[in-house]
Amino acid sequence: MTASSSKRALQTRIVQHDDAIPPGYLSFVPPVERASTVVFPDLATMRELDWREDGQWRYGLHATPTSLALAQRLATIEGGAHALLQPSGLAAIANVYFGCVTSGDDVLIPDNVYGPNADFGRWLDNDFGVTVRFYDPLVGAGIADLIAPNTRLIWLEAPGSVTMEVPDVRAITAVARQRGIVTAIDNTYSAGLAFRPFEHGVDISVQALTKYQSGGSDVLMGATITADAVLHAKLKLARMRSGTGVSSDDCSLVLRSLPSMQARFDVHSRSALALAHWLKARPEIATVLHPQLPDCPGHAEFVRDFTGAGGLFSVIFDARYSAAQVDRFVESLELFAIGWSWGGAHSLAMPYDVASMRAAWPHRGTLVRFYIGLEDEADLRADIERAMQAALG
Ligand SMILES: *Cc1c(COP(=O)(O)O)cnc(C)c1O
Repeated sequence: MTASSSKRALQTRIVQHDDAIPPGYLSFVPPVERASTVVFPDLATMRELDWREDGQWRYGLHATPTSLALAQRLATIEGGAHALLQPSGLAAIANVYFGCVTSGDDVLIPDNVYGPNADFGRWLDNDFGVTVRFYDPLVGAGIADLIAPNTRLIWLEAPGSVTMEVPDVRAITAVARQRGIVTAIDNTYSAGLAFRPFEHGVDISVQALTKYQSGGSDVLMGATITADAVLHAKLKLARMRSGTGVSSDDCSLVLRSLPSMQARFDVHSRSALALAHWLKARPEIATVLHPQLPDCPGHAEFVRDFTGAGGLFSVIFDARYSAAQVDRFVESLELFAIGWSWGGAHSLAMPYDVASMRAAWPHRGTLVRFYIGLEDEADLRADIERAMQAALG
């Protein structure tokens, strides 16, 4: 108790209590530090703050010790140096645009990219004076022919999370580096575990932490990870200006799941690959799009650059089945839910009309994307077989 505090009214002492917590408490868990107001010891400290420095606490929106602990762990996982948290994966994507492009600039996006990223690009193109052009994800070094004098940002996604083409990341980043163009990869598929973007020349890695990092289908969060301090500062300034941040409670949920992420990822990978092989032999299926299978576009790059695949893959049903029949198959599944997002324990299935998404698409049958959860693999297989018999005869 300070000298003056005992004379104050009870209500004041409740608000400004002299806590007497004995020191020496230890646990494994980073404390959940909630704050809007961050308090400065004096005005000089407040006035001398440098927002570029992590750990110069300024306002709860920008960082707390809890969010910084999560950011540091994400940077470690990907082999980067800095990470910025965002309230969703899509907010992290938006912040890359805000930090890296302005009106008059040009952006290149692979045409198999996560749909809302493509939509964001089209919005910038329509309303904000940025030109956005879509490229074939298998373009490789041919990206050089697409670059304009005002191209500032090239997006990559490896593989595209619906159609599964794996780009030659090294070939694209080599050209971009030569021309001084920033590259950003949506690395959500690999969780940052199976693909290390900075070893392949990428400047910014985006994660939807909503997926494997959360692992519980109950948190929305995103991150940008960088190896370069100047780029990190650019993204940080954009984030401060746009007023996005995350709650420490949500950070603590993701922190809780990170230690089990590799173990979960390995189980997803094993079950998904086993089911992909089994589906490839089924007469109902024309094509299985799984980057570990040799006929998946970009398989050679996948083998060269990736150490695992996770729970996501797609199949194309034989063209003799109508889209309505394939819908019936999806609705006949009992263990696969119909829903967006993935990375949790539950398996999912979703049909996609790819012909409306991509310029050149060689397949005629309907595509269904599977996300293989943590259920027993034999049960999932039996469920698919039963749904095929029920819906397709
Ligand atoms: C889910 C997802 C996102 C966006 O994450 P949200 O947190 O849902 O906004 C971005 N990219 C990919 C590849 C995704 O699967």
